[in-house]
Amino acid sequence: MKKAVFPGSFDPFTIGHFSIVQRGLQLFDEIVVAVGVNQAKKSLFSPDERIAAIRRTFANEPRVSVAQYNGLTVDFAQAVGADFILRGLRSVGDFEYEHAVADANRKLSGIETVILFTDSQYSFISSSVVRDLITYGKDISAFLPPV
Ligand code: ADP
Repeated sequence: MKKAVFPGSFDPFTIGHFSIVQRGLQLFDEIVVAVGVNQAKKSLFSPDERIAAIRRTFANEPRVSVAQYNGLTVDFAQAVGADFILRGLRSVGDFEYEHAVADANRKLSGIETVILFTDSQYSFISSSVVRDLITYGKDISAFLPPV
């Protein structure tokens, strides 16, 4: 059975994240969406709010589960028995960082990172843009998953 962890801040979980999970389900039997909690990083939504929203989104998808974690992604992946980390890549701006982290994770644990290029219709969507729009009271429904 192929199991992947999809780690991120997901503050909030956008339609871009949703698309990566949907496409990842064609590659993996099971995906754990892992909400990383970093005390130093200022967030708009609490971990519980983020997790509840992601759980609602995948309420009808038994192959997706949602969990919170602190610490290293590879430690969490090993704890849940996942052999892969799933990530999305929007632009060259994401590339250097994702490459370095994927290399470090593979050396640390042998866990391979599988990166999917963003569907170009979602490449401009980021959690930080959605947070800005929320702050200014704009309608963000087009940027969120359908549920
Ligand atoms: P992090 O703080 O770990 O970067 P994010 O919640 O911002 O967490 O993103 C989690 C993952 O989702 C990352 O691999 C990121 O590149 C990817 N991602 C973010 N936005 C999009 C998008 N619009 N389309 C596809 N992937 C995305």
